[in-house]
Amino acid sequence: MLNVVIFGAPGSGKGTQSERISEKYGLNHISTGDVLRAEIKNNTELGKTAKGYIDQGQLIPDELMIDILASVFDSFKESKGVIFDGFPRTIAQADALKKMLADRSQKVSIMLDLKVPEEELIDRLLKRGLATGRADDNEETIQKRLVVYNTQTAPLIDWYKEEKLYHKIDGVGSMEEIFEDISQAINSVK
Ligand code: AMP
Repeated sequence: MLNVVIFGAPGSGKGTQSERISEKYGLNHISTGDVLRAEIKNNTELGKTAKGYIDQGQLIPDELMIDILASVFDSFKESKGVIFDGFPRTIAQADALKKMLADRSQKVSIMLDLKVPEEELIDRLLKRGLATGRADDNEETIQKRLVVYNTQTAPLIDWYKEEKLYHKIDGVGSMEEIFEDISQAINSVK
């Protein structure tokens, strides 16, 4: 299996690029944010719990997220591989992902870190908020999400460097240019 972790701050383009990667390489795509938004839309118990955190720009507790991830992963049959979009977001989640994959004789093949300067992230998220009405793409929540990213998620960069899986991608440029860099990185580990 080819298992790709796509990493980056909110607004770095993870979702957009994940769709293209999943299409080109035939991978299953798990976006934990999309999973949670679907639960909210369907007004499930999980959705109600998740909404409280998402609206505050906070992370859903690790144990809950890890269970959700494992159940989505196990729902894929005869998968060629998975693109993990928005997971892991904490060291505990990265440890859990490693263990979950090892238990299934699998591992992460590469971690792609989409680098975008903070002013550009804010600009993109505000525009997305206007275009899509996504509730957490407002100025106040964006600031909170960036703090959460810098404090809880960014430490994963060193974690993945130690695992020798880290690969930096310049996330500024045209969608095609960025996708070309991503494809090259993936081809180097395939
Ligand atoms: P995203 O669509 O990836 O930007 O995620 C939107 C929101 O969903 C985040 O701000 C978190 O509140 C929540 N979320 C998504 N993925 C995770 C995760 N791996 N761990 C905790 N919370 C998450």
